[in-house]
Amino acid sequence: MLKNIGEYRTYFDILKAEKKKIGFVPTMGALHEGHLSLVYSSKANDDITISSIFVNPTQFNDPSDYRGYPRDLDRDIEILKSAGCDALFAPSESEMYPEKGSVAELYWTGNIREVNLAPLDSVMEGKYRPGHFDGVTTIVQKLFYAIKPDTAYFGDKDYQQLAIIRRMTDELDLSIDIVGCPIIRESDGLALSSRNALLSKDQRAVSCIIYNTLKSAQAQVHTKDVQELSAWIAEEINAEPLCEVQYVEISDPDSLAPVLKWEPNKKTICCVAVFMDSVRLIDNVSLFP
Ligand code: AMP
Repeated sequence: MLKNIGEYRTYFDILKAEKKKIGFVPTMGALHEGHLSLVYSSKANDDITISSIFVNPTQFNDPSDYRGYPRDLDRDIEILKSAGCDALFAPSESEMYPEKGSVAELYWTGNIREVNLAPLDSVMEGKYRPGHFDGVTTIVQKLFYAIKPDTAYFGDKDYQQLAIIRRMTDELDLSIDIVGCPIIRESDGLALSSRNALLSKDQRAVSCIIYNTLKSAQAQVHTKDVQELSAWIAEEINAEPLCEVQYVEISDPDSLAPVLKWEPNKKTICCVAVFMDSVRLIDNVSLFP
């Protein structure tokens, strides 16, 4: 395990002297098969796979969500070892966010740039979690700058995040290949998420309604217009008393702009956020009208 950038840099120099292609899988830990699918994709495409675990405080708009976020570094290290991940970068908070005005801060100053994400960041998660994507782009830039990967892997599960990271990488000309990986689900359809561990038994038992509803929505693109389908999805999920829909958005898969009318054969993306008490779950599916 590499705890700081100095340790990583020594390792990196060896890898680069050997002309190794580096694949990178950034995570916030509490690892599951969804994270591991990214590790396996990297192992299939790169010479070396490096994962990171850092629960990034700046992307949490809700302090209690940050405090309650599941953490188990020892378990995660074992999981990564069994998956054949070559190295883990697990920095401290002060490594990634040194005290303002300190010498350590100079490492980041000037290398982390602001990115214009509009309008990608003003919908969905951006609308309901103010500042979230500023936190995401800051930490991902820092991790990219520290790790210097050739390729980085992100899940379709966080669809908007993936779109934003692609935009950031293009805009800043970072020369890193961004690879999106499919959503891994439980056998009943619930998308794997570190937050699933926070669900009660009863909540977990009914949580599959989110994906089941999205699946049936896929079959209804020819019988309902966009607004009808979006309202139906919300009603269907809200009919489960343990669920409260925060948003349903049917959007263009690239610009994330709301789609108002189906265009035949044009893929759209349907993203939802659902509260189960204080646990917030997100999911998405593609729709092909
Ligand atoms: P997180 O630890 O939640 O920040 O997630 C780290 C990475 O794993 C992100 O790129 C996520 O999109 C991805 N990820 C999380 N859950 C899944 C899943 N169920 N299937 C595929 N990728 C996932």
